[in-house]
Amino acid sequence: MNDIILLKLGELVLKGLNRRSFEQRLIANINRRIEGLGKFRIYSAQSIIYVEPLDSSCDMDETFEALKQVFGIISLSRAAVCEKSTEAILQTAKTYLADELNAAYSFKVETKRSDKSFPMTSIELSQYIGGALHEAFPHLAADMHEPEITVQVEVRDSSAYVHAGGVRGAGGLPVGSGGRAVTLLSGGIDSPVASYMMAKRGLRLIPIHFFSFPYTSELAKQKVIDLASVLTNYCGKLTVEIVPFTRIQEEIRAKCPEQYFTIIMRRFMMRISQIIADMNGCKAIITGENLGQVASQTMEAMAATEACCSLPVLRPLIGMDKEEIITLARKIVTYDLSILPYEDCCTVFTPRRPRTKPRLDEVEAVESALDVEALTKEAVAGITRVKA
Ligand code: ATP
Ligand code: MG
Repeated sequence: MNDIILLKLGELVLKGLNRRSFEQRLIANINRRIEGLGKFRIYSAQSIIYVEPLDSSCDMDETFEALKQVFGIISLSRAAVCEKSTEAILQTAKTYLADELNAAYSFKVETKRSDKSFPMTSIELSQYIGGALHEAFPHLAADMHEPEITVQVEVRDSSAYVHAGGVRGAGGLPVGSGGRAVTLLSGGIDSPVASYMMAKRGLRLIPIHFFSFPYTSELAKQKVIDLASVLTNYCGKLTVEIVPFTRIQEEIRAKCPEQYFTIIMRRFMMRISQIIADMNGCKAIITGENLGQVASQTMEAMAATEACCSLPVLRPLIGMDKEEIITLARKIVTYDLSILPYEDCCTVFTPRRPRTKPRLDEVEAVESALDVEALTKEAVAGITRVKA
């Protein structure tokens, strides 16, 4: 049986003139996502992307699972390809969907016909196939409203396709179609979810991790790389920028009052992130911040944190409950890694009583004890890059 995967596109269908470049980007992303799974021909026609295996070595089950994670696809169907004749379509439906038809009690047939030269109308073809299937599977009742199985017949330009409906895709927009952003990846639960959400809106990501060796261990760093590696399933290839952060944290501890440690540390993160963003053509900084979750995530603290960078700071989790974030973390399979118990640089230097409503002028006054520029430069010079 000639098996193929049909992908329906989401919002990008609406995008008028951009549509062609969106489609091309999506096809490139799909190619990259399934390149290890066999040889395929991937092409678009009439608003559908076809993923056609070129030989029997293609792993269609794994390919189908992988494609469910690609942003920009709204639904996926596995279909059988056949010649555009009523008999071929009927035989294909009988054999390709035999298991489903045997297991169901009720069914209907739906036909889409973009090849208008086909000798039957959509309704006529549905009726013909429906009648013949009913003869072949007499236990099946026809049910136009809530059938257990809907046999879908698509008569397109090159061939006909038969399947039993699609499953939901990942939705969103193709990664890269909205430009690039840096994402601050900590190893906690929140930041991988924030990264996923913004990749879903079409951003290509550069993850940044601030690493405070030996206060945080090699294992903590590896955990972040492992998280990034899970994220590549959705975001495409990722290279994590590892920023040495120990000296900055030690300087803050030596020279600033304890209640300002977190906010000043976070301001350094933003400055360095902005520099990495500028070097890589990134137009925004993504964090996993969530209003009210911890002392540094009050409106005042966030305002003081972002005052030292000019790029927009995107906080997709800002209004979510922890429960909702955890549900999403489980769905994208980052949760179990995130809860591994390694220290993060934020927790190592947590003040006992942080300032929850810092004033920017106070923060700047406290910060003036530090050589901000030299510390920032030194950290940037020490960046290492690790492929996830
Ligand atoms: P998370 O669950 O993502 O660790 P959190 O609830 O622990 O977040 P914070 O520690 O205040 O909250 O961190 C807020 C955000 O700052 C994180 O979501 C992440 O985007 C960024 N961040 C914190 N620590 C680091 C780090 N060591 N490296 C990179 N980014 C960090
Ligand atoms: Mg954290």
